[in-house]
Amino acid sequence: MTKLAEEHQAINLSQGFPDFDTDPKLIAMVADYMHKGFNQYAPMTGIPALRSLITAKTNKLYGSDYDAENEVTVTAGGTQALFTAIATCINPGDEVIIFEPAYDSYAAAIRMHGGLVKTYEMIPSDYGIDWDIVKRLFSANTKMIILNSPNNPTGSVLSDTDMQCLIKLTKGTDVLILSDEVYEHIVYDGLKHLSIASYPELKERSFIVGSFGKVLHATGWKAGYCLGPENLMKEFRKVHQFSIFSVHTPVQYAIAEYLQDESKYLGLADFFQEKRDYFRSMLGQTRFNLLPCKGSYFQCVTFDHLSEETDVALATRLVKDFGVASVPVSAFFTRNTDHHALRFCFAKKKETLEQAVEKLMQF
Ligand code: PMP
Ligand code: GLN
Repeated sequence: MTKLAEEHQAINLSQGFPDFDTDPKLIAMVADYMHKGFNQYAPMTGIPALRSLITAKTNKLYGSDYDAENEVTVTAGGTQALFTAIATCINPGDEVIIFEPAYDSYAAAIRMHGGLVKTYEMIPSDYGIDWDIVKRLFSANTKMIILNSPNNPTGSVLSDTDMQCLIKLTKGTDVLILSDEVYEHIVYDGLKHLSIASYPELKERSFIVGSFGKVLHATGWKAGYCLGPENLMKEFRKVHQFSIFSVHTPVQYAIAEYLQDESKYLGLADFFQEKRDYFRSMLGQTRFNLLPCKGSYFQCVTFDHLSEETDVALATRLVKDFGVASVPVSAFFTRNTDHHALRFCFAKKKETLEQAVEKLMQF
């Protein structure tokens, strides 16, 4: 969709990345570390200062006890953390439960390792989970469950009830959890992000994935991390060592210094809430039907009452005829389906959102 948007000079609310600047202070820090000579390989697991920052921040926010030496690895973005965790655990024939619509890298990575994707379909408008149905997806071959809260693309978040169901469901099994929490700091209306890290029964069987691209408005830097108990992290690092080995050195130093100021991540919820509220109030004036958005920087809409065309057809027409790019939500399903919904990314400047909605009003 980004390519199509560029071809048609449309406003791009499709791919999830900010169109505003990364903090110049942070950029200056990266440049400074480069000038100071921090330009060679970083340690395989990540520089100690960044690993300590990640574990201290996680432990403080979620009451966990991760150890910086053995239980976290710095990765080339959340995507590499996800891929490496899957490569570490999934063998041919292993089954992995995912919740669709789902971020598109999960199913691809599972299949690349011979795994079988078992899907639970979340239903609009709240995209909640009926755990009794999830239970029916379990078999002797179930190896892993992948969670994503706050969720891309639906904006839904898991509740404590969900976590308790998950504890019950996995108790006494060897099932692993891969928890994609890249939007952990982007939750709205005073809601609190519930991390797997806060639940000891889940934490002991889980990898947690984070992304500095989301935290620092710098998705192109591809910096992230994976947390996990020592026994799992030890295996994760074997794959990491021989696929990536290590991650951009000056960026790691700069992030470790910059995020000493916790307002840089604790302020994200307010920062994006202003954008979400503004975008929703404007979009509410179009004919689209807005779905709830409790977290992430994505807003989904449905259009059943407006058109019978597929979401792919409508997303394409919106680019070509109206000059706005979105992502058809059917792109987040493994089965060929028309979900009849569109996802808009609102991590954009106010004027971008305003111009986009002006165009969408014409529809
Ligand atoms: N998980 C989800 C749900 C995402 O939306 C993204 C970013 N698109 C990622 C993982 C990957 O993060 P990164 O850009 O750090 O690889
Ligand atoms: N997270 C981004 C999204 O969902 C995209 C990352 C990517 O394009 N691979 O739009």
